[in-house]
Amino acid sequence: MSAVAYQHFVQAKADEKAEKQAPFVSVIIPFLNERDVLEQCHLRVCNALSALNQSCEIVYVDDGSQDSSWQLVSQFQHPTHSIRSLRLSRNFGKEAALSAGLKAALGQCVILLDADLQDPPEYIPDMVDAWQQGAQVVEMQRRERHGENWLKRTTAHCFYRFMSYISDSPITENVGDFRLMDQKVVEVINTLPERTRFMKGLLAWPGFTRQVMTFDRDPRLAGETKWNYPKLVHLALEGITSFSTKPLRWATLAGLTTSFFTFVMAMVVLTKTLVWGEPVVGYPSTVLIILFLGGIQLLSIGVLGEYVGRLFIESKQRPLYVLMEETTSAPTFAQSETTK
Ligand code: UDP
Ligand code: MG
Repeated sequence: MSAVAYQHFVQAKADEKAEKQAPFVSVIIPFLNERDVLEQCHLRVCNALSALNQSCEIVYVDDGSQDSSWQLVSQFQHPTHSIRSLRLSRNFGKEAALSAGLKAALGQCVILLDADLQDPPEYIPDMVDAWQQGAQVVEMQRRERHGENWLKRTTAHCFYRFMSYISDSPITENVGDFRLMDQKVVEVINTLPERTRFMKGLLAWPGFTRQVMTFDRDPRLAGETKWNYPKLVHLALEGITSFSTKPLRWATLAGLTTSFFTFVMAMVVLTKTLVWGEPVVGYPSTVLIILFLGGIQLLSIGVLGEYVGRLFIESKQRPLYVLMEETTSAPTFAQSETTK
């Protein structure tokens, strides 16, 4: 065997060993003040993972909870699965919490799940099945949005359509964060450095082979959604400005179009005055045109400002989150199982 071939052989063996030691599946669960649902969530996730008959890990990420959620999760244990809990130093937002979980996850594949059980853990075995059959990303598409009103459903639908239109990496409609990703995909996502983390876009960006599975999204088990409309508008703006520069192009086009119409109008007024000698009239139309142009200008400056603001935040290079505490609970019966 040549030296190069031997090196490849050694590397392959090392990879194989690392893979064997890695948990089969990592489930990442970010939460903020979810005291009332976490026990039930833990129970259902553990049951779903136990159906896989492999050692898995659950990574809880406490996104700055003020209730006793952290005390609760840091006590969680399981006979066959390892439970890791990360505690962020304050509320950094779900996107940062997910990023912390993705960095920490060791599994051969990773599943993102909400703590409020809106994404039923019982789908995990089917998702893992699809992954084992070759899909590197399994996206869970919501069939029904139970417990969400008409306005939220409609605005969400419009937003997905709009994002798919402006973004280069296609975002599947009605697919939230609930999904499975192969470790290879997670590695790529972990290299994406941006601070403004529009997760749906970042998760879609790497590509890879995808499979879409439909599921019925349940209502929240307890507590209230952390998303209000101002937050959703902020998220939408973040998504648009971090994944497309098309709004800047539209601002330019709006400028060009208004300049063109102004030129045509100027020609008409000039001809009327010079040829027919009509006096220049139209105080109301003058005011309207000034207001219209003022509106377009302010809008364009606003669009520009959104991008400059993001550049400002990116340029500071602050960390995405700060880890305050971390606990790991190894499988409690792992030792006895290996000696059986
Ligand atoms: N969450 C979080 N940090 C936040 C807001 C939410 O970790 O700043 C968690 C929350 O505890 C839940 C998940 O993200 O586990 C989804 O949040 P929520 O149910 O409020 O969102 P919705 O399902 O209404 O979109
Ligand atoms: Mg929810």
